[in-house]
Amino acid sequence: MKQTIDTIRSRRNITFSQLGALLTTGDKEVVQYLYDTAHAETQRVYGDKIFMRGLIELTNHCKNDCYYCGIRRSRTDVHRYRLTRDEVLECCKTGYDLGFRTYVIQGGEDGWYDDEKLCDIVSAVRKGYPDCAITLSMGERSRESYQRLYDAGANRYLLRHETADATHYGRLHPADMSFDNRIRCLHDLREIGYQVGCGFMVGSPYQTVETLYKDLQFIRSFQPHMVGIGPFVPAADTPFADRPAGSVETTLRLLSIIRLLHPTVLLPATTALGTLHPRGRELGILAGANVVMPNLSPKDHRKDYSLYDNKLCTGDEAAECRVCLDRRIRTTGSHLVVDRGDYPACEN
Ligand code: SAH
Repeated sequence: MKQTIDTIRSRRNITFSQLGALLTTGDKEVVQYLYDTAHAETQRVYGDKIFMRGLIELTNHCKNDCYYCGIRRSRTDVHRYRLTRDEVLECCKTGYDLGFRTYVIQGGEDGWYDDEKLCDIVSAVRKGYPDCAITLSMGERSRESYQRLYDAGANRYLLRHETADATHYGRLHPADMSFDNRIRCLHDLREIGYQVGCGFMVGSPYQTVETLYKDLQFIRSFQPHMVGIGPFVPAADTPFADRPAGSVETTLRLLSIIRLLHPTVLLPATTALGTLHPRGRELGILAGANVVMPNLSPKDHRKDYSLYDNKLCTGDEAAECRVCLDRRIRTTGSHLVVDRGDYPACEN
C-alpha cells in the first residue's frame, strides 16, 4: 500500500477504493508512511514554519440550529454574549504583542452584526494593524455583504462546507439551511478575492466513506486556500449529544490525504483534535498540518463559546496558550513564526 500512497502524491488524486483502504488499514507501518509522506510535502512547501492565527470569538448568538453545534439557537442554557469593537481591538493588541499577524474573527450567525457594525470592526482592525491579515468566519451572508467586508479590509474567509453530499448536509442541519447556499457563499467569496477556507468535521453523524470521498473531490476541484478539518465532538443538549466523537486517527489520516491531494493548502491542526488527544495538535503537524489557531478571546467569555464539550484552553490566558503551544510544537521539530502566513504566491 506504500506504492498507493506514492501514487496519490504524484497524481494528486485518490480513488474511492484507495480512500477506503487507507481509512481502514490496521497496518501501522503504512499509516506511518502516510503521515511521513504528507509531513515531507508540508516541509517541501513551507519548511518547518508553523503559522498561528489568533481566534477572536465575536459572538455566540446564532440564528441557526445546526444539530451538532453547542451554540445552536435552541440551546437555552448558553449564556449569550457579544464583543464590542473596543473589546476586539483589545484582543488584537494582546495578540500582536504575542506575535500574531493574523486575526480570525469568528462567530455564530448573529444578525445584530449587520454590515455596518461588522465593517466598522473590520476597518478598525485594518487601521490599527495594517501589517496583519484579517480572516472572517461569520457564516453565510449575501454576496454584497461579503464584498463590503472585503472592501473594509478583510482578506480571508473561513466557511466549512461541512459535507459535500447534499443528503448528508440535510441530516446535519434543519430544513431552513441549504447546501446550495453554502456552496454559493464559497464561490462568491473566492470571486470577490478572499483567500477561502472550506472544511468538515470528521466522524459527524451519518458520515460514510462515500461522503468523505465527495469531500475530497470537492477540495480537489474547488482548490481552497485553507481546509479546516477536526473531529466531531458531541455537545451537551444538542440532538447529537449522545453520538460518539470522531476518531483522532481518522482525522490524522485525512489531514495527510488532503496534504497529498493539495500540497500548498493551509491546513490547521484544530483545537478539536487537541481536545480529544493530549498531543492531538502535535500529531496533526506530524501528519501534514501547518497552522494552529489559539484563542485570543477574552477569558470571561471563552466557556460560553463552547461549540462542543470539554473544549481546550477555555481557562487560559492568551499568553499562556502561546507559550504552551510553542513548547509543544517544538517537540515536532517545527516552530511557530511571526508571519501573516499567506497562501503561497498570493499577495492579498
Ligand atoms: N457560524 C460560523 C462559524 C462558527 S462554527 C460558520 O457557520 O461558519 C465553526 C465550525 O465549528 C463549524 O463549521 C463546524 O464544522 C465546527 N463545529 C461546530 N460544532 C462542532 C462540534 N460539536 N464538534 C466539532 N466541530 C464543531
